[in-house]
Amino acid sequence: MFETKRHHHLKPPPPPTPPMTSHSVNYNLQFRSTKDDAWYKCGVSSDLKIHLRVKFKNLVQTSNDEVFSISDFSTNDQIEIFRRRFRPESEPVGVNECRKVAEGAMVCAVGCLDDKQLRYFDAIVDAVCHKEHTPEKCLCTYFLFWQHGPEEGTITEANLEDIHLIKRGPVDPTVVNFTKLIKEKLKVKSASSEFTLIPKNINMSKDTSSNETITKPQASFSVNVSSCCGFHIL
Ligand SMILES: [Zn+2]
Repeated sequence: MFETKRHHHLKPPPPPTPPMTSHSVNYNLQFRSTKDDAWYKCGVSSDLKIHLRVKFKNLVQTSNDEVFSISDFSTNDQIEIFRRRFRPESEPVGVNECRKVAEGAMVCAVGCLDDKQLRYFDAIVDAVCHKEHTPEKCLCTYFLFWQHGPEEGTITEANLEDIHLIKRGPVDPTVVNFTKLIKEKLKVKSASSEFTLIPKNINMSKDTSSNETITKPQASFSVNVSSCCGFHIL
């Protein structure tokens, strides 16, 4: 079933209206929408370095943009999930290259047609039925096991033209810089909260003789240490 609960906490705040930057947007990315979880061709721009605006190639009206603010993020996990929503644009497969789409491969494919808007979701190629055909038209059939979207968990048939190859690699530096800014802000927030912690053994020096070292107070800053664990972005 169609399911969007997993990322509901990343939903952008209701209609923020930061100003648009004047430079043109380069539509060279794929973005996994927080609204329907589908992948769309998109470009990004940064508004005053506080917001990241995602513009959809085929939905150019500003009202369709997804806008993220630095203040939307409070944990490293949220940043990581956000970062994974971007990747280089996936590529269609040439008719002569249909054997590139092998069993077991993860692909991005047309999941459904909604209001004439193609919506793409990730799927694993479960099986391939190759057929002899001319270079002009692929007659092979692909069985896709959907990883998300309306058909999640099911296997459906697809043709080559429904399938794009996923590209890995660096994404637009605007996204990278935005995530860096969020991380810096979280670090500052974390550092400032350390000063508010009271060491557990604040009275330790009273019971310590003059011969013992007191250069290592037993203050506990475990709150902030634990929040930084498991952080593996970039
Ligand atoms: Zn073929």
